[in-house]
Order: sequence, then C-alpha cells, then structure tokens
Amino acid sequence: MVSEMGLEPTWCEPYEPESYASTNFATQTFYIDFIINKYITYIFFYYNLVMLFDILNKKYKLYYFCTAIVKHCNLNCKYCDHFSPLADVEFKDVKQLEKEFKQIKKIIELEKIGIMGGEPLLHPDLVQILNTTKMIFPETQILLVTNGILLDKLSDDFWITCNRNKVGILISKLNIKINTDEIKKKIRQFNVMATYYGADSNEYKKMYKPVLDLNGQQCIEEMHEKCWQNKGKCNYYENGKLYKCSIAGNIDSFNKFFGKNLEITKKDYIDIYKTNFRKIEEYFNNPIDFCRYCNLNAIKYDLDWEISKKDISEWTM
Ligand code: SF4
Ligand code: SF4
Repeated sequence: MVSEMGLEPTWCEPYEPESYASTNFATQTFYIDFIINKYITYIFFYYNLVMLFDILNKKYKLYYFCTAIVKHCNLNCKYCDHFSPLADVEFKDVKQLEKEFKQIKKIIELEKIGIMGGEPLLHPDLVQILNTTKMIFPETQILLVTNGILLDKLSDDFWITCNRNKVGILISKLNIKINTDEIKKKIRQFNVMATYYGADSNEYKKMYKPVLDLNGQQCIEEMHEKCWQNKGKCNYYENGKLYKCSIAGNIDSFNKFFGKNLEITKKDYIDIYKTNFRKIEEYFNNPIDFCRYCNLNAIKYDLDWEISKKDISEWTM
C-alpha cells in the first residue's frame, strides 16, 4: 500500500547530541555512575521513608486489656487486686472513654477487652459504654466482668445490648448469695453468653493475696520473670495510660487510702497519646520500675473469700 503510493517508509535515527556522541568512554562511565548513585540515593531515601511510615502507623497486636469504668465496688473483697475497697466513688465519663478508645484504636489491634471495676454494673451508663466500645472495636470480643450481685436487677435494654454486641458476661464465683435462677433465666431469654469466672461450677473462687513491698526493695527482673500478671492477660488501661498489670494501674487508690507513695514512673505505662509500635513492643517485652514493689516470693494463693477490713496487712507482709 505504501509503495503503491510512491512513498517509502523513513526511519528516524535516535537524536544524538554531538557533544554526547563524541564523549569518550571515561565520561560515559562517569554519567552512568552519577545516574546510578543518584537513583540509589533516591531509592534508599524512599525505602527509609516507607519504613518510617510503616513503624509510625503499624498497630501493635494486643491480646487483652481491661479497664475499670467504676473504681469502687459493692462487695469490697479482701485482697482485691484492683484495690477497689480502698477506692473513691468514681464513674468513668462515657465521652472521655470514647475519645480514649478511639486513640487506642489507632495504635493497637485488640482481641479482647474487659469492662470491669470495681463493679461495672454500678455504672449508670453501662449500656452506652458497651455500645460505644463495640462501635470503636467492632472486631474485639467484649467481656463484662462482674460479681453478679446486680445482674438480676438490670433492664431488658442491658440484656438486649449484650446480645446485640455479643458481650460475654464473666461472673466471679464468689461465696456470696446472688439470684442465680433469675440470672440464668435472663441469660437464656436474651441468648447472652455468660459463664462463671475463676472457679468451676462446684467450687467458689479462691483469692490470692498480692504482697506489696512498701520499700521497693525487690529485684525488678526476678519479680517480672515470676509474675503471671505480665503474661498479657492482665493488661490494664486507665486515663490515657496502658499498664501491663492491674497492680501498677490501680496503686493510686492504695497510696491515697494509706498515705503511701509507691511511685509510678513514666516507664511503668504507655502514654497512648505519645507512643508508636516500637515503644509498645519494648514496653511489653521488658520489666517495669514498679516491679520493685511486688514481693512475689511472699504471695499467697488459695485463700477463702472474705470482706475487706481495709487494713494495710491485706496487701502487705
Ligand atoms: S468483686 Fe471484684 S472488684 Fe469488687 S472488691 Fe471483689 S475482687 Fe475487687
Ligand atoms: S508490677 Fe511487675 S511484678 Fe508486679 S504485678 Fe505488675 S508486672 Fe507483675
């Protein structure tokens, strides 16, 4: 077709500036090195930028933390490791909790969250708290830990909320009288997940006595190594601070009640507003300063449940 029209295809030779075409081999090598170096620098810079972005935005996978929405309790058990018998009457503000949970969501991927106290059923906005928690952590299993005393008195709205949000209710099986028949009826009626916590069906839960060393003379590494609270199932959150245990997280109640100063330092918790993946990882892999106050060699297990007399000996030697 082309030749019939008397036209021959013409090919364009690549444009070669005279100066470049006439450069010798050494100059060409210089250009190639220059370009390679330049691009390697760019690639290296870009790679570091991506790594930095990744570190700053990567979420830490946490199995569990619990938080106290109420600091006080309607039972006041001896040896309570949240120091609830000593705590002031205090209810967590729902709006504040929402703000804090949204911040935690940015940095942590959470498998389970414990809503507890003190006694969480004392909170007048419990239903709202459960809904807010589910809204922010839709993939996270919510556990509501309670002594059960008020369970049979809660409204249908509470039970419907538990069903809708798949809340698991853990009832501490303490040696106290609760309206088990009515509670079981509600659990079945609203198809809610619930179980006893801390003992099988034939026994009551035994208590353990956390023993504090008021002088802080314990070996931090040894105590941390021995501690079962640091194994990821007792992490505790409160007021912008994530702790690896409830003892450190609640010590303010003990300090205030007995006029002591078992000191919490910045190394004892994660500030949820000033952290990143690396800092969280480092925190959970190392002992905290507060371990020096825990005398795990003196800890006592299998103790019968009793009401607290709010005596300091319940938490010390
Ligand atoms: S019921 Fe639980 S939170 Fe309340 S005092 Fe007893 S151990 Fe502490
Ligand atoms: S302060 Fe340390 S030793 Fe004590 S309960 Fe917490 S993690 Fe365990």
